[in-house]
Amino acid sequence: MTEHKRIYLASPHMSGLEQQYVKDAFITNWVAPLGPNVDAFEKEVAEYVGSAGAVALSSGTAAIHLALLLLNVQEGDIVFCSSLTFVASANPILYQKATPVFIDSEPESWNMSPIALERAMKEYADKGKKPKAVIVVNLYGQSADYDPLIRLCEYYEVPIVEDAAESLGASYKGKMSGTFGRFGIFSFNGNKIITTSGGGMLVSEDQAALNKARFLATQARDQAKHYQHSEVGYNYRLSNVLAGIGRGQMEVLEERIARKREIRQHYAKQLATISGVTILAEQTYGRSTYWLTTMLLDPQQTEVRPAQAIDVLDSNNIESRPIWKPLHLQPIFEECYYYSHIEGEDVAGKIFEQGICLPSDTNMTDAELEEVIVLLRHTLS
Ligand SMILES: *Cc1c(COP(=O)(O)O)cnc(C)c1O
Repeated sequence: MTEHKRIYLASPHMSGLEQQYVKDAFITNWVAPLGPNVDAFEKEVAEYVGSAGAVALSSGTAAIHLALLLLNVQEGDIVFCSSLTFVASANPILYQKATPVFIDSEPESWNMSPIALERAMKEYADKGKKPKAVIVVNLYGQSADYDPLIRLCEYYEVPIVEDAAESLGASYKGKMSGTFGRFGIFSFNGNKIITTSGGGMLVSEDQAALNKARFLATQARDQAKHYQHSEVGYNYRLSNVLAGIGRGQMEVLEERIARKREIRQHYAKQLATISGVTILAEQTYGRSTYWLTTMLLDPQQTEVRPAQAIDVLDSNNIESRPIWKPLHLQPIFEECYYYSHIEGEDVAGKIFEQGICLPSDTNMTDAELEEVIVLLRHTLS
């Protein structure tokens, strides 16, 4: 076992700029939810992605929940959602007591399959049970293929919520990730490409809806001198201290993306020639941030299974992870319907069985990255 500090999948990477904004919050005593850092952080993110506005929130999950509330998702409603994702994409459907229906991935980007979505849309339309929303997830830093997805959703008149928690800074045909749905959401959780330790953002072209989100996120307080409430509210706003961290992080986002892309290039160059190994590639339609570099091991061409590779790395103090376990395979969603890419071919399930997320930490040195690669070459060859 080698002696080195742990190499992480993706850890918080501060630039030093964050502390100035946090200090400003202390000097002005804006140690509160809301304040100048929150306003500026919202403006900076909206400008960066090119959306009309943004609302800073306590988490990406809160942003998804508010998007569903704004789309009036209620008990008994159907909501379609990508299956291959983190559970936070779908939990807010359950908060609303609505029913999730899961949609498979297509094999190229691992994101929502337009073929599966079309089957699901048609069947639910025929049943007279149109979904209230479709939650499309952009996995591991890469955008879904929105042209066919939007065409379908426009035809059936179902709004899209874009879960861009993992894809801040990615693009699709020249447009920034997060701006393809009625609502887009970002996450600033500790392992995301930029972080506020915890936080999220809701973006949209619809300013009135964003104002409604601000209202709901601050306990739905009516405009009255006394405390008056006519709706259920939430405590979902971001703290002004944490927004300060976010402002510093926004200044280095492009640097982080450049490094993530470099990391992925190193892996691809040195591992892709090994039999049975595929390093997921960027699609021609846009820029991937490669938030995480991911690898598939084809069981027909290599004896090494993902769990073994993860164990070997771990015994050398290197963190790697399995791919998200698809939500249609989760005990909590056991009863839910699932539409596979092609009937009888579960793409998400196969990616889960064959995939690994490799250490993609921008704090990692070139020497550390080289060490991971040498170990992987040794294990996989
Ligand atoms: C991280 C993540 C979320 C949740 O974001 P939080 O800020 O942790 O609530 C939602 N969806 C996806 C795909 C994520 O990766």
